[in-house]
Amino acid sequence: GAMAEEAADELTLLAERHLVQPWPMSGSIGAEARGRIEGGEGIYVTDAAGRRLIDGPAGMWCVNAGHRRRELAEVMAAQAMELSYNSPWYTTNAPAALLSGRLAGHAPDGLDHVFYTTGGSSAVETALRFMQFANNVKGRGEKKLIVSRQGAYHGSTYLSASLNGRPRDQDWMDGAGEQVVKLTCPNPFRRPEGVAAVAFCDYLVAEFKDVIETVGAERIGAFVAEPVMASGGVIVPPDGYLRRIRELCRQNDILFIADEVVTAFGRLGHVFASQEVFGLDPDMITFAKGVTSGYFPLGGVMIAGRLLEELRRSNHSEAMFAHGLTYSSHPVGCAVALKNLDLLEDGLLEHARSISGHFQSSLKALEELPLVGEVRGMGLMACVECVADRVSNNPLTLDLEVGKRIDNHCQELGLLVRPLINMCVMSPPLTISTSQIDDMAAILRRGI
Ligand code: PLP
Repeated sequence: GAMAEEAADELTLLAERHLVQPWPMSGSIGAEARGRIEGGEGIYVTDAAGRRLIDGPAGMWCVNAGHRRRELAEVMAAQAMELSYNSPWYTTNAPAALLSGRLAGHAPDGLDHVFYTTGGSSAVETALRFMQFANNVKGRGEKKLIVSRQGAYHGSTYLSASLNGRPRDQDWMDGAGEQVVKLTCPNPFRRPEGVAAVAFCDYLVAEFKDVIETVGAERIGAFVAEPVMASGGVIVPPDGYLRRIRELCRQNDILFIADEVVTAFGRLGHVFASQEVFGLDPDMITFAKGVTSGYFPLGGVMIAGRLLEELRRSNHSEAMFAHGLTYSSHPVGCAVALKNLDLLEDGLLEHARSISGHFQSSLKALEELPLVGEVRGMGLMACVECVADRVSNNPLTLDLEVGKRIDNHCQELGLLVRPLINMCVMSPPLTISTSQIDDMAAILRRGI
């Protein structure tokens, strides 16, 4: 009643006065309180007004096993009571050792080592610093440029953020731009002018080849890519693109880093998508989010053992990889990741695979709406892109961003959307059922 309302107002006030939220505009920085979520269960969350909403984006593509899983909560409590923390500098722990073995078993052949981090940004940062370190040790300190793509998102630390290529992300921010080369976004819906759909893959591969020739393979250390670009708008690249880029990397001794922060842990129906979905064998895979279904901040980098072996055999065995985080290999994070992996292996991956066809076709049907230019996706990730008209396909822009407007309408109808300028991204918990997918699509249709 009145007391609960007063307490809620107090929380809003505290947030407005003291909380700085991610991605704020400077006009409201440190002075806003976004809609508060009070609870969650399964694919639903409850907001401060008591409304139950389908969690369309699964938090931030991370609550893969769904909210309020007792078995996940219990394993965290039990681990905290057993051993809540140990220094990864001087010691190790059982959950970290067990998880490493399980992850190595799921990763593409040869990716048999893992370095744990606190999330996705620190995983990407770790992979890049490892590349820099390895090339220093190998006596080729010039080979450190990083190739990324327009539209990409890789994180919010200095170097990982420097790879980002989404509109507006760099406008007011500094970065290590001189260390990064960005290629064309592999978005079949928005190709460069004059490039036909059938020629697009060749175009992208030729562009990378050009960069290698112009810049010089001896200066390029790594290529980093999300197999399916996530927050850039769920960009599924043309068939064969990833494998052909991988081959160019191999020929030129450039490390291929697959950023699977979103695509791993069931989002595309497998623990890792690289090999099983795309036939890829990256040198490193970064992961986070779904590894704990968002119950604990954890990430990591799968590293090919061969790369470590090279370092052990180099002339500089005394060189130190001076990199590590207080919470690398956190026992509570690794314990919940193990339990989460049990859930995935014991039916959740299979469920995700079996339901993704229905998910994609239900959303694809929204292309009937005049505002919708394209619906695209893969597995349990999809994007609805709104356009001004379907001849120009120009992004639809209104006074208030279209995505936000759709999100507002959908929230009134019981669905949380992830708005991205003129796009709505959907990536629900993998536990979603057929009828819940129908509910989601119906609300989205009405909202749009
Ligand atoms: N890489 C990808 C592909 C992501 O989508 C994200 C986050 O959204 C990150 C990296 C950064 O992860 P985090 O926010 O956990 O640092």
